[in-house]
Amino acid sequence: MHGLNFIGGRFVPARSGATTEVFDPARGTVLGDVAAGDMTDVDDAVGAAKAAFEQWSQTTPRRRSELLHELGDALEADVSEMARIERLNVGKPVGMLDFELESLIDTWRFFAAAGRFLEGRAAGEYVDGYTSMIRRDPLGVVGAITPWNYPLNMAIWKLGPALATGNTVVLKPSELTPYSTIRFAELAAEVLPPGVLNVVCGSGPDVGTPLVEHPEVALVSVTGSVAAGVAVATAAAQSVTRVHLELGGNAPVVALADADVGAMAASLRGASFYNAGQDCAAPCRVIAASGTYEPLVEGLTAAVSSIVTGDPALPESEMGPLVSSAHRDRVDTYVAGARDRGAEVTTGGNTRSGSGYYYEPAVVVGVGQDWDIVQQEVFGPVVTVQRAPDDETALRWANDVEYGLAASVWTRDPGRAMRAAAALQFGTVWINDHGAMASEMPHGGYKKSGNGKDMSVYALDAYTEIKHVMIRH
Ligand code: NAD
Repeated sequence: MHGLNFIGGRFVPARSGATTEVFDPARGTVLGDVAAGDMTDVDDAVGAAKAAFEQWSQTTPRRRSELLHELGDALEADVSEMARIERLNVGKPVGMLDFELESLIDTWRFFAAAGRFLEGRAAGEYVDGYTSMIRRDPLGVVGAITPWNYPLNMAIWKLGPALATGNTVVLKPSELTPYSTIRFAELAAEVLPPGVLNVVCGSGPDVGTPLVEHPEVALVSVTGSVAAGVAVATAAAQSVTRVHLELGGNAPVVALADADVGAMAASLRGASFYNAGQDCAAPCRVIAASGTYEPLVEGLTAAVSSIVTGDPALPESEMGPLVSSAHRDRVDTYVAGARDRGAEVTTGGNTRSGSGYYYEPAVVVGVGQDWDIVQQEVFGPVVTVQRAPDDETALRWANDVEYGLAASVWTRDPGRAMRAAAALQFGTVWINDHGAMASEMPHGGYKKSGNGKDMSVYALDAYTEIKHVMIRH
């Protein structure tokens, strides 16, 4: 595969001619190359986006919606190619891609429609002799930066609200997984006016930083690690550029004393290891209160040891490789560190020999609240289980991390569930489930997991400016 930048409606190499290699994580071999952009390519792309903004922002919401739906149709017709690309580039098993692509197309269509009904307060005479009204204007050029774990999905979450509300975009995909975004640009090239969507490939420092620092960029929308979010927010502060940050997670799974532990183990077998655990909302910290610990450890260990890990091209594979050897080593460092401190790994927790970046799905028990494996985002196929003396302690430990993206609480008592949902400081709280999502509902973090919302009409807030227009009669 060869990937080019997409600027002003044309596919072009990096101005410098530089490229970087892209890997197939299932084999550990080179899959192809991609343009390695720099600030000159960013400047070209921002220029193209700025030129396209005037017309796109003045296109009626209905017409924009029609074009975005047309692009949705093209995406829907292209799902098997998109699935092939995501499987090869990210190592996602074929079995999960139908669901992932179906969901992201639904989100795309949701935003194609949502741009037609932006809201504000009613126009009226709030001061004698004046009429006030609210406009919601697009911001201008949006700089979008996406991670490697859901490359196309995260691009859709940004492009949907940004384009539907009349902004134009320069998107930088992860240097590890650029191909599905480039494929989406190929589809967009047939539908959108030139310059409305631009893609510049390259690293965070070479492309991300100049995009954030570019004076013509009105908003930078980033999904990535807390470290990247902090770097982006720091750079953006110099020019008071807006930031929309969807950052890391470290989701607790709280079993209250009356939890259905059998249902939990069955659910976590899927949810914790979906995408090999490389998921910002993945349930990874099980906190078992009052008597639920032993049955949970036993149930989880049995469930997780039956997960089929293997070639993502095979339908029977439930879990594929991790995205890179560096990331696999990072995950293993957390498990090894916990082992060294006396934790027991009841199943998995080893690097698989041979080609590809495979890691055995792991359950790690006997860990302490202040350990790295509990406090930090492991972002791999690893679940820890902690024993909490009572429900209150379990909820306190759940909140006692710097992340706040997603959490779940398991109980048969609706009153307990509601009190726990109120106490948990996370952007999404599931009760007796972990992971279900809807395009109509927001996704976003508390604390260092970021600010602003993806999906739902709340996402439109980040991509629009509220303007008050006041007429004196
Ligand atoms: P990352 O932070 O390494 O990279 C994310 C993107 O930011 C990449 O495109 C990268 O090139 C770019 N980048 C890195 N440093 C930058 C800088 N200084 N300036 C500008 N751009 C920079 O993250 P990753 O490893 O690709 O993805 C995994 C992370 O993403 C995890 O922490 C995960 O939790 C998070 N994530 C969050 C959500 C969410 O919705 N909150 C969703 C998916 C992934």
